[in-house]
Amino acid sequence: MAKHETPLLDQLESGPWPSFVSDLKAEAEARAKNEKGIDYQIPADCVEDLLGVLELSYKHGRTHWKHGGIVGVFGYGGGVIGRYCDSPDKFPGVEAFHTVRVAQPGGKYYKTEYLKQLMDIWELRGSGITNMHGSTGDIIFIGTTTKQLEEIFYEMTHNMNQDLGGSGSNLRTPADCLGESRCEYACYDTQDLCYNLTMEYQDELHRPAFPYKFKFKFDGCPNCCVASIARSDMSFIGTWKDKIQVDQAEVKLYVDGQTPPNGGAHKDGNWGPFDIEKEVVNICPSGCMGYKGGKLLIDDKECVRCMHCINVMPKALHIGKKRGLSILVGAKAPILDGAQMGSLLVPFIEANKDNDYEEIKDVIEKVWDYWMEEGNNRERLGELIKRKGFQRLLEKCEIEADPRHVQFPRENPYIFWKEDEVAGGWNRDINEYRKHHKR
Ligand code: SF4
Ligand code: SF4
Repeated sequence: MAKHETPLLDQLESGPWPSFVSDLKAEAEARAKNEKGIDYQIPADCVEDLLGVLELSYKHGRTHWKHGGIVGVFGYGGGVIGRYCDSPDKFPGVEAFHTVRVAQPGGKYYKTEYLKQLMDIWELRGSGITNMHGSTGDIIFIGTTTKQLEEIFYEMTHNMNQDLGGSGSNLRTPADCLGESRCEYACYDTQDLCYNLTMEYQDELHRPAFPYKFKFKFDGCPNCCVASIARSDMSFIGTWKDKIQVDQAEVKLYVDGQTPPNGGAHKDGNWGPFDIEKEVVNICPSGCMGYKGGKLLIDDKECVRCMHCINVMPKALHIGKKRGLSILVGAKAPILDGAQMGSLLVPFIEANKDNDYEEIKDVIEKVWDYWMEEGNNRERLGELIKRKGFQRLLEKCEIEADPRHVQFPRENPYIFWKEDEVAGGWNRDINEYRKHHKR
């Protein structure tokens, strides 16, 4: 028999999709039965009360969590988010129900043993509810009491060598794609750079000193599997500066229908035979491709590294050999001014392990110096750039303005290109280009 009636939440179990309500009920039941004989260190019925308070929020159309509250572990300014219920008399099990952010490993690789250890701590000292993973990337432990925070922190750091993540006005837990460990498109070692910067900037991660939150994310290529371009104040996206590697014999196998395009992802769909003109050449965003005389031609200096052609024909096309990354800045979710995507700051920089990524750290620190000097309280980097202009950031970072800093340089009415400047490539027929690109 459930402790609280939850008719509104029950409706969320009715659709065809998995429901977090069912998960919460399963956890509440498991805690009530306690077949493992766990000596719960927080109220055993906390998940029951969580369902109850959530039902009340649905009924009233407002939250019943009080805002914030400073809680944490000794020596750290972030990593724990205080949560207190505004109706502890009705829901004593969640009177204090704090969230703990646990730093996720690079590429989110886990050993089963590690997950078991983590869950042993969390079942004993918390609610048993997790979010794998939060939008910043951390493993999120949802719900524990103030008294248990130091215990959890001690056990994680001493027994598992596991750190907390970031929260508040600090560097948030950096997140990366799995990169070179499994992906042939990776232009740099995302996991190594992510780990290196995480260790380098421990102070920034654990001791909030910034105007507001700051996120790093690392994508090995422009496919952007961790969506760094949309979700991080500083986004590191792998790229190359020479030519796309083309194997013409493999191109022919795609054209002849012997190799299925898109890695075979659509082979059972009704897509018809592969048409290289329609599916690759004509939708290249910079119009720099052609298929002539049985050969695929690419005017590489016009290529914007969108990855489309490589994704469609991965056996025939491959990223270039001179690899590195681009740094973009200023993406954020819609807090004040609406959502923003990152803007290109550094078009190409090598990810040089041998000198401990010195050049990349130099850019990061210049950006931070500027933001900490001129950013208002609770102003994200992207908002500062908007307020002061991109030129100011370039000056502060000692980076010269370049056409690549301009969005759509080929179409921007304030930038004038002479015909011979754009018609150098064999396929730069502007009418042809406009036919396919109606922006
Ligand atoms: Fe691979 Fe690129 Fe995705 Fe990273 S972002 S996993 S390199 S496709
Ligand atoms: Fe065109 Fe994109 Fe391929 Fe470059 S990567 S050639 S821009 S489709």
